[in-house]
Amino acid sequence: MNEVREVGVGWHALDIATVERRLDTDRARGLDAIEAGRRFEATGPNRPEESCGTPWYRVLGRQFTNALIVVLVAAAVISGAVGETADALTILGIVVLNGVLGFVQEWRAEKALDALRKLLSPFATVCRDGEWTRLPAERLVPGDLIRLEAGDGVPADVRMMAVTDLRLDESALTGESLPVPKAMDEVGADAPLAERATMCWAGTTVAHGRGEGLVTVTGSGTEFGRIAHLAGTVVREATPLQRKLRTLGQQLGLAALLVAVAVVLIGLASGLEWIDVFLTGVSLAVAVIPEGLPAVVTITLALGIRTMTRRKALLRRLPAAETLGAATVICTDKTGTLTANEMTVRDIWLAAGPLAVTGAGHDPEGGFEGDGAGVVASDRPDLIAALETGLRCNHARLVEEDGTWRGVGQPTEAALVVAGRKAGLDADPDGRMAEFPFTSDRKRMTIVVDDAGPVAHVKGAPEVVLDRCSFILDGETERPLDAADRARIETAIDELGRGGRRTLGLARRTVAAGEALEEEVIERGLTFLAVVGMLDPPRPEVPEAVARARGAGIAVVMITGDSPATALAVARVLGLEANEAITGPELERVDATELRARLTGDVVFARTTPSDKLRIVETLQKMGHVVAMTGDGVNDAPALQRADVGIAMGIRGTDVARGASDIVITDDNFASIVGAVEEGRRQYDNIEKFTRYLLSSNTGEVVAILGNLLLRGPLILLPVQILWMNLVTDGITALALGLEPAERGTMNRPPRDPRAQIIDGAGLVWIAALGLYIGVAGLWLFRSYGARGAEGLLVAQKVAFTGIVVLENVNVFNFRALRQPLARVGYFTNPRLLLAWVSMIGLQAAAVYTPFLQRALHTVPLGPTDWLVIVAISAPVLIVPEAVKWISRFRERSTA
Ligand code: ATP
Repeated sequence: MNEVREVGVGWHALDIATVERRLDTDRARGLDAIEAGRRFEATGPNRPEESCGTPWYRVLGRQFTNALIVVLVAAAVISGAVGETADALTILGIVVLNGVLGFVQEWRAEKALDALRKLLSPFATVCRDGEWTRLPAERLVPGDLIRLEAGDGVPADVRMMAVTDLRLDESALTGESLPVPKAMDEVGADAPLAERATMCWAGTTVAHGRGEGLVTVTGSGTEFGRIAHLAGTVVREATPLQRKLRTLGQQLGLAALLVAVAVVLIGLASGLEWIDVFLTGVSLAVAVIPEGLPAVVTITLALGIRTMTRRKALLRRLPAAETLGAATVICTDKTGTLTANEMTVRDIWLAAGPLAVTGAGHDPEGGFEGDGAGVVASDRPDLIAALETGLRCNHARLVEEDGTWRGVGQPTEAALVVAGRKAGLDADPDGRMAEFPFTSDRKRMTIVVDDAGPVAHVKGAPEVVLDRCSFILDGETERPLDAADRARIETAIDELGRGGRRTLGLARRTVAAGEALEEEVIERGLTFLAVVGMLDPPRPEVPEAVARARGAGIAVVMITGDSPATALAVARVLGLEANEAITGPELERVDATELRARLTGDVVFARTTPSDKLRIVETLQKMGHVVAMTGDGVNDAPALQRADVGIAMGIRGTDVARGASDIVITDDNFASIVGAVEEGRRQYDNIEKFTRYLLSSNTGEVVAILGNLLLRGPLILLPVQILWMNLVTDGITALALGLEPAERGTMNRPPRDPRAQIIDGAGLVWIAALGLYIGVAGLWLFRSYGARGAEGLLVAQKVAFTGIVVLENVNVFNFRALRQPLARVGYFTNPRLLLAWVSMIGLQAAAVYTPFLQRALHTVPLGPTDWLVIVAISAPVLIVPEAVKWISRFRERSTA
């Protein structure tokens, strides 16, 4: 834990007027834009100093600190020592070239991460010039007036001046695990940090309630300067795949060492020239290790970050893309993710009978109808009472911009403001005495206002509100609520729900003098006013996304805070197979075995709380599922953390949810999650593709060298040539393979088993068969040319060298698709691969025709017949696998 610095003026101990004066600000209107700009110039951005990523020289240094480089440099030194200066220089040249290529790729990866960090950086609600806006938290300056709400990360140190049941999670700062209540009255100057209740500290989060305050200190001047620990961080860790590849690399390295030592020993024992033996050993080691692999994986993942971003998914933990590709269940919220979160009040059920609300969207044009006839709102005191409660228990407002109306605040509340306007009423924030905020656990909210005496206005899930009612407003009269009323209300809730409406109950009560303003006291003995039915249209793209998820073998489970009837109705519209809705309270009653049994059926979850989500994730995981789970609220953090992939919503999500997630979906849309799954699968496939490609090519080299050794031939490939193949030509085509678009059918196959090896049995067969062919073909070229006498040896080496490069380059096309013939994938669907291919063949031509490279790589020009022979021997590399793929495709189809 960092040491707490005692800085500044002790803002906690000053009264708010002094704070305001010292900060030279206006506690009602905030700073004006010019002054804020001036202060920003002076203080700089509000972020900790260290968050600038890895410096370039460290990334460059990393390229030259691995075992392979050491071996190569040793080889260069020995070559130089025995007089092969050209070889020594070529090896060093290739080492440097490889280092620079690696650096460029890793640097791009770093830049992609930086861009991601910027996109993820948090926002703050600030008042400037008397107008509330959302600004990047980086723009905050001392003196800014800001608002904090449950789920927000505190963006700077703030002296609070208005709090409503505000409680902060300060565990990151003080280790205190229980939320700490905040207050407005100044505390003693020497109070320890944890007891300075007037202050909210940067780096902590709001667990409950809301409040407003003045920013006292920003950036690294804050008590902990820990802002980066919230939503803006990207956790950089190796993906499971990278770890598997690292293990594979180590195994291959060991194999390389053993083979090389064995070859050297055998060679020396049979009396060969030691330098030849040494060079063969090094060649083999170089041939076995796929040097390009780590760099290609890094750049593929980095490019993947960008593609994901374009598809509206920001990765906070890099392994998430891969895990998402293996997800078997997506547990998703309803409101805002499956639906548009654009609420419009359509129905108001009153004791006297149901009313329909006309009009569209946020436009306050519209009215009320009962039994098909227009209703004048002012003639209906019961309607007016319900609408008034909806307006008083509310923080939203309506604004008109260029003739269109927009709600500011929560959509549910904005819808109530629109409904009020239709009766000529408006929101009135004056006279608030107390507030018990809405949380997903409480499912209700109360505001007590002074209306010639205190009155409590309550809204919430209708059953929850009804449970707390003892009276009902029927027309103009309030009377006790009886069982028949309850039954009628429940039927109304159910009917509205079955019509897909989101339902809300409204109630109120006059508070007697002397009653404590505490939720358990106030939210009792209420008078039931109305059930409101809201339309929240499904997002149009969701049904198709649901179908795609299903096609990909992924179950979609809706988990909502709405009522079971609403949940089922919406599920049906979206094409989710749901026969049963399990509610949060029911969930508490069922044991683990029963829950498992029910989870195997088609269920949705309704009226859930965040802790229910956690239980659902855990149960699904125990059933062997890889679970992706969405969340947005402050209490969703445990479930998001527990899920294999926690998905936070970028628009609705709180900083806390984003901080606990692996991925942030920027448009909150379910379809983007499915898009990210496809992208995750594509990336995994591509890594699989180029790993197999590089390994099969390397196998070819090993077969050629070992075969040649067994046949006791002279050196077939020189170490510099193998380095050239592995680091220069293969690496670049492999990189282009990483850009392969998603294969057709990517979303028609079941999720991958996350425990499966990157190279399965079939993969091994492909690698072995292709490697064998490339090796034997190279060997054949070498020996048939070599048989032409002493002068033939040089020709044989260069033909074998170019032959193997061409064979390997042709081989790349076999790995464009793992499961389908190339003809079905399309020859031109990856233009960058074609470009890389042509460039590599061009580079190889340069290697044999330009004097500089001829000297460096020990080559001489090839004649047209040589090329023809090479082309002829390369053709089967493409034709035979393609034929095999077609045959297995026909077989599969005929058995299907
Ligand atoms: P999902 O989990 O699918 O996103 P949700 O966000 O609608 O669903 P909650 O926010 O937990 O779930 O809401 C549950 C219920 O609480 C709603 O059906 C509604 O009746 C009520 N409710 C929602 N917002 C408010 C609010 N601001 N004030 C009072 N009650 C509310």
